[in-house]
Amino acid sequence: MTKLAFIGLGNMGSGMCANLVKAGHEVAAFDLSAEAVQRAAEAGAHPAGSAGQAVAGAQAVVTMLPAGEHVHTAYFGEAGIAAHAPGGCLFIDASTISVNHAREAARKAQEAGFAYLDAPVSGGVAAAEAGTLTFMVGGEADAFARARPILEAMGKNVFHAGASGNGQVAKIANNMLLAISMIGTCEAFNLAESLGLDAQTFFDISSTASGQCWSMTSYCPAPGPVPAAPSNREYQPGFAVAMMLKDLRLALASAGEAGAPAELGEHARAIYEQLSADGHDGLDFSGVMRRVKGEI
Ligand code: NAD
Repeated sequence: MTKLAFIGLGNMGSGMCANLVKAGHEVAAFDLSAEAVQRAAEAGAHPAGSAGQAVAGAQAVVTMLPAGEHVHTAYFGEAGIAAHAPGGCLFIDASTISVNHAREAARKAQEAGFAYLDAPVSGGVAAAEAGTLTFMVGGEADAFARARPILEAMGKNVFHAGASGNGQVAKIANNMLLAISMIGTCEAFNLAESLGLDAQTFFDISSTASGQCWSMTSYCPAPGPVPAAPSNREYQPGFAVAMMLKDLRLALASAGEAGAPAELGEHARAIYEQLSADGHDGLDFSGVMRRVKGEI
């Protein structure tokens, strides 16, 4: 059993925290929302009144917060985690934030004497609840070794991606590819159907041919071929347009800084930005099928 703190008990964090409790860890939980803390307490965590209180005596802290600003405030703000954590406490941030924010947080943590890992996840709320997330981790190898059993209580795949920030790099590069492949898959299904080839027959052929990809075989944006996909429930998320747009913006900001060309990534961002501007933030990202079909 490890004494842990969990901070950020939202859509993702609540399930992750509950899985740490289930795995037998002693977890002190804090969120700015008292209701979220109450829910965590009902799942067996110890409610804390502040981040400082949560990390007192903790061997490691896991954070799951909306964006980079929240992560920096939670760790390094006045009365934040770094000011209260005991020496040797391991910082694990599972939020999706920019590569620069993550590397800056690791540097500041190191200056304060703490090891810091960026450990963003792939998989949504259902995977957070089921404990089947994929973690992509950046940071020192010895810190990664200490974090592994904690991460394994919340996920089924845990990868060490290399130095600080590399977890975030893996996450944004993956999701930029996912956005592009999803839009391409929508266009291909729409093309096939427009020319008289039904979705199931096209799926049967293309899913065993060279067009095969995850967006098609696991998350088909055309209703029918993949029963569990959001396309069969009016494109309810799943993974919402707003979340995909957040990740695309992070990816393209980093692409700009790195001088890495991302023309299709830019185009994908423009498409999701338009969907968002038109009021479709809450649609699953595969709902771009409706835009391709001219329905929205
Ligand atoms: P959320 O908004 O539901 O939860 C965030 C929680 O953090 C909220 O409960 C909020 O009150 C709390 N919070 C904010 N600032 C705080 C602070 N200083 N101290 C304590 N608590 C604070 O967000 P979410 O959907 O759980 O996502 C969390 C992170 O996971 C994001 O970075 C997101 O990009 C990433 N992510 C989300 C999904 C998804 O499907 N929702 C999938 C993969 C990754």
